Amino acid sequence: MDAHKGWNLQQSYTELPDAFYTKTTPSEVENPELVLYNEGLAEKLGLPTKLDPDIFGGNAVPEGSEPIAQAYAGHQFGHLTMLGDGRAVLLGEQITPEDERFDIQLKGSGRTPFSRGGDGRATLGPMLREYIISEAMHGLGIPTNRSLAVATTGEYVQREDLLPGAVLTRAASSHLRIGTFQYAAGLQDHEQLKALADYAIERHAPDLLHSENPYLSFFEKVIDRQASLIAQWQLVGFIHGVMNTDNMTISGETIDYGPCAFMDTYNPKTVFSSIDRQGRYAYMNQPPIGAWNLARFAETLLPLFHGNQEAAVEMAQEAHAKYEESYHAYWLKGMRAKLGMVTAEEQDQPLIEDLLEMMEKNEADYTNTFRALTLGSPNETSLYGKPAFTNWYKQWQARLERQETSDNEVQVLMKKSNPSIIPRNHRVEEALEAAVEEGDFSVVKQLLSVLEDPYAYTEEQEAYTELPDSGDQPYRTFCGT
Ligand code: AMP
Ligand code: MG
Repeated sequence: MDAHKGWNLQQSYTELPDAFYTKTTPSEVENPELVLYNEGLAEKLGLPTKLDPDIFGGNAVPEGSEPIAQAYAGHQFGHLTMLGDGRAVLLGEQITPEDERFDIQLKGSGRTPFSRGGDGRATLGPMLREYIISEAMHGLGIPTNRSLAVATTGEYVQREDLLPGAVLTRAASSHLRIGTFQYAAGLQDHEQLKALADYAIERHAPDLLHSENPYLSFFEKVIDRQASLIAQWQLVGFIHGVMNTDNMTISGETIDYGPCAFMDTYNPKTVFSSIDRQGRYAYMNQPPIGAWNLARFAETLLPLFHGNQEAAVEMAQEAHAKYEESYHAYWLKGMRAKLGMVTAEEQDQPLIEDLLEMMEKNEADYTNTFRALTLGSPNETSLYGKPAFTNWYKQWQARLERQETSDNEVQVLMKKSNPSIIPRNHRVEEALEAAVEEGDFSVVKQLLSVLEDPYAYTEEQEAYTELPDSGDQPYRTFCGT
């Protein structure tokens, strides 16, 4: 089998004008060692189960690779900056046996022309963290880039302390970001902007190429994808942490896992990132920040929407206005499924909101509350015994009786819609500590294995539903390390 497998790389990005990328190569490292390799993903990509660790450490490039660093800009916490791949190298696009195209990118592979003051390097803990969380998101069925491999470099990287270096290899539908369009708009050259938009449409929505106004239709498509994506984040309690415009894709995949985490206790104000002091990217702000970022995207596309600026702005506003409605529809549909509802009633939303409000007031665990409802064990929620909850539970049961579903059908739907487990922060930390401090990767691998199908409700997963000892809150995550 493996004999037919291997690199099948193309580099379509270099067909764009030169301003969009710089040719570069990964920097050599002392002693690359492959510590994680995603065999399931390798299979999907058409890669063999064993590959040269030199490639994943950056000491060799695969056959057919034309490595580049991509140029992009981005609003970081509201301020527009020129960025670009400062510590990432795009090796090329792997064409899979199913004829799909995936960017293969190294992260932490040394300096590039976009590194500014940075060293271009990454450390082991955060790269393992990104691997775990992105693969967990994939297991949850949420669009995301994937993690193919982590290689340690045999070198130390200077942060606050000296930390072991590592390189992460990621696979993504593309790395086109809102920030890529902001960069293109900044070039103030209509042809270059058009080239980027045409490329993006061809790659991510080829069916729109012949529509009446492909650019406007494409904008609507990206709005819909992001509305759906962010609704899915909210439904599982995922907090991205840095929703800067350079971290928001055109494909609708989650990318750039920095200081992200899953919420334990339900609190809409939850923020994990140590750099997000104002709570700009708190859980409850993610949907409106999505809208803000999409407005920045629209601004870049105006000259393509219409030759007359006023007309273009009107078109953009009309399209942009659909985001909120679209987000809300995805969210409500998802919440109904989480509560086993297959029909739609006027009173569903207030019923959902009542539950969330009770959870917030009583500091209930988000995932475990839905898990207990799914398993028909309301006594296992921390809300049990509260009169308001007893009343709510009765209303919910009555609501389910008004639809023609058996208890079993309801439970099947709820199991598909409520993960039994999420990568809880204390479990992620425990796994990273074993790997980084003791070179023991078995804890990471075990965690990855139970997260492969979070909706499986296996016995093995039960231990992972346990909450951290109180005392390690508030949890903090760090990025850019
Ligand atoms: P991120 O927080 O990963 O989205 O990164 C934001 C920007 O900072 C991107 O342009 C990165 O390439 C760049 N960057 C982050 N860390 C480093 C580093 N250690 N060296 C060089 N550039 C970096
Ligand atoms: Mg980024």
